[in-house]
Amino acid sequence: MAAPPRGADWRFAGAATPGRQAPALGLPEVAFAGRSNVGKSSLINRLTRAAGLARTSRTPGRTQQINVFAGRDEIAFADLPGYGFARVPQAVRSSWKGLVEGYLASRRELRAVVVIVDARRGIQRDDADLLAYLAAAGRPAVLVANKIDKLKQGERVRALAAMRRECADVIAFSAVTGEGERELWSRLARAGALG
Ligand code: GDP
Repeated sequence: MAAPPRGADWRFAGAATPGRQAPALGLPEVAFAGRSNVGKSSLINRLTRAAGLARTSRTPGRTQQINVFAGRDEIAFADLPGYGFARVPQAVRSSWKGLVEGYLASRRELRAVVVIVDARRGIQRDDADLLAYLAAAGRPAVLVANKIDKLKQGERVRALAAMRRECADVIAFSAVTGEGERELWSRLARAGALG
């Protein structure tokens, strides 16, 4: 791939729901996961330059589906539903788990999972659970510390050091300023996601 697909190169390719698998596209795929409000949609929109591809600030717990986007028929992105909502009923939580674990366990084209955290909050319990699940499943994970623009230099150094103690592969990122974008693409290329 000469350059990552941008803007109009991206299209919505289908969705997985609790009763239905995502369409098989045969493209190397990258999945994006994170607690609600970490900026997952903003990060996807930043990487694709397709504003509105992943909708920002959706209603918590209402989006129990995995949206798959194809970029120039060279790469696919899977937008996993956000987790960590405070007031979501147990039934919704277990349907999230079934949907996401089913996808992570069986998706053949999946090359890497980008786990997004808020740099100010670091790795929370449910992020750690997801990272442990991915390690056990042999799925490469890339940890992205988003909203890094909100930290002052000293806070930033401390936050990144704390995260690196738990996960070696952490990228400081800002969906607002674009910091970390090149590093993330090159990390995805190393994972074999760019053909
Ligand atoms: P999602 O729920 O994880 O998809 O999060 P959104 O993409 O909807 O973002 C949640 C909020 O955080 C929105 O108000 C975004 O504008 C804001 N946001 C997302 N990424 C960043 C970032 O890197 N820096 C800053 N300062 N704000 C961000």
